[in-house]
Amino acid sequence: MASAVQQLFPGTKISIGPAIEDGFYYDFDKKTPFVPEDLKKIEKKMWNIINKKTCFERIKVSKNKAKKIFKARNEAYKLELLDEISDEKVSLYKTGDFIDLCRGSHVETAADIKAFKLLSIAGAYWRGNEKNKMLQRIYGTAWHTKEELDEYVNKLTEAKKRDHRKLGKELDLYSIHEEAGAGLIFWHPKGAMIRRVIEDFWYKEHMKSGYQFVNIPHISNINLWKTSGHLDFYKDNMYSPMEIDKQDYIIKPMNCPGHILIYKTNLHSYRELPIRYAELGTVYRYEKSGVLHGMLRVRGFTQDDAHIFCAPDQLKNEIKGVIELIDYMMKIFGFEYEVFLSTRDKSNKFAGSIEDWDKATGTLEQVLKEKNITYKVEEGEAVFYGPKIDVKMKDSLGRLWQGPTVQFDFNLPRRFNVTYIGEDGKEHYAMMVHRTVLGSMERFVGTLIEHYGGSFPVWLAPVQVKILTIKDDNVPYAKEMQNLLQCSQIRVELDCRDEKIGLKIRESELDKIPYMLIIGDREVKEKTISVRKHGSRDCAGMDVKQFIDRVRKQIETRK
Ligand code: ZN
Repeated sequence: MASAVQQLFPGTKISIGPAIEDGFYYDFDKKTPFVPEDLKKIEKKMWNIINKKTCFERIKVSKNKAKKIFKARNEAYKLELLDEISDEKVSLYKTGDFIDLCRGSHVETAADIKAFKLLSIAGAYWRGNEKNKMLQRIYGTAWHTKEELDEYVNKLTEAKKRDHRKLGKELDLYSIHEEAGAGLIFWHPKGAMIRRVIEDFWYKEHMKSGYQFVNIPHISNINLWKTSGHLDFYKDNMYSPMEIDKQDYIIKPMNCPGHILIYKTNLHSYRELPIRYAELGTVYRYEKSGVLHGMLRVRGFTQDDAHIFCAPDQLKNEIKGVIELIDYMMKIFGFEYEVFLSTRDKSNKFAGSIEDWDKATGTLEQVLKEKNITYKVEEGEAVFYGPKIDVKMKDSLGRLWQGPTVQFDFNLPRRFNVTYIGEDGKEHYAMMVHRTVLGSMERFVGTLIEHYGGSFPVWLAPVQVKILTIKDDNVPYAKEMQNLLQCSQIRVELDCRDEKIGLKIRESELDKIPYMLIIGDREVKEKTISVRKHGSRDCAGMDVKQFIDRVRKQIETRK
């Protein structure tokens, strides 16, 4: 693709072009922006190159030689990249007249490329930094066969329809405002209702699992973050301090230090453990503007957070409890999931002893094995403070989304001196586990929107029933029905506008409301209702009590 672009648009500079999941992209520096029609032209040129069966040749050269080559070609971005490579020799790939800096590997000849498609154009800052020049990115995908490509493109079309940013607007769930700042979510009544239902459910399940709820302030003295070490290792994700009474305060990027302070207000004996503090805690983290994405990648979000403080011999049971809770939550929302276990990065510094790590990692593995959960080990992927389990939720299109996580922490208990009095009467460091069973409310609801394609199951739907009247005369009876439903805690709206019933039905369908009740003269006379399910053309007459029972049962069984 890069070769085709440079042939079609001479003078265009190349920067980086990695493979990504299901495809690739390349960032270009071109004087005038690409337009959508260019993609077809570039594709045609690419077929041209493919048909010539051009070879991909790997050339190993010294860094200096490579610099000379790219200088002659006026490729400033490649020179900048070369400056950062410490190796003496680098590898280049050549195909036709095109040369790129690349580790490889590549197909042997262009003829090996059987099926591809260029998908979209986007702006992207050089190195993802908004202080740098805005480059132009072209996304594409490549497959072994035309069939695989078609299948993938169909999946993309379906994903586009389900995009939570599109549905979020259409269903009036949330908004983001330029004047308020990027990456900050404003929940509208309907979105907030979905969130509320999930939160109520979350609180109930956590009470059943023996959690206590806490709440902490959003800002705290910077010293807290010095003690925690965040100021050293997490600074890039934290916002600048604000001054209060000549002291620096920071808006929290995490809830952990706050929960630790609460734990430390008392001495704890081993008999009281485990202690589990849970909070729907809002945190603020800096993310580059280029990576922000609707509700899925934001700058302020509410974690369904909890910290478990326990003794070493309780660890296994605690992890088991968390894994069971995660599994239950995922099942309720209809997600299959994949599990990843991240282990110690052996080359890096880490908190705690190797023995601690081996034990903790062993405990995580043991629980996963006992629960018969298949998992993938990600060697060296753990953060420095402890091993972790990440759960990725698989949505209805088979896409994976970062969700729940369980993390050990050998760092904070030592930094804050988080201890308990053991059976031996001596003070011991408490074991500390950070965990979320949904992830964050923003990401989780965003994922749910795409998972359900906006058609929420009855228990989650912000409006569960819409009553539609055919004539003005039907309004008093319709209001009576509305009242009955409301009293049974069913979320109901009434559309008694003087509009054609066909239009009212269409609008209600677009809003993806699970049930419509149609009220006309016959229903008023017979004291019944006509029920129409979302996505169905059938209308069933029934008694309102019968209907209420049906909806209540769906709500209670979370269907
Ligand atoms: Zn934490």
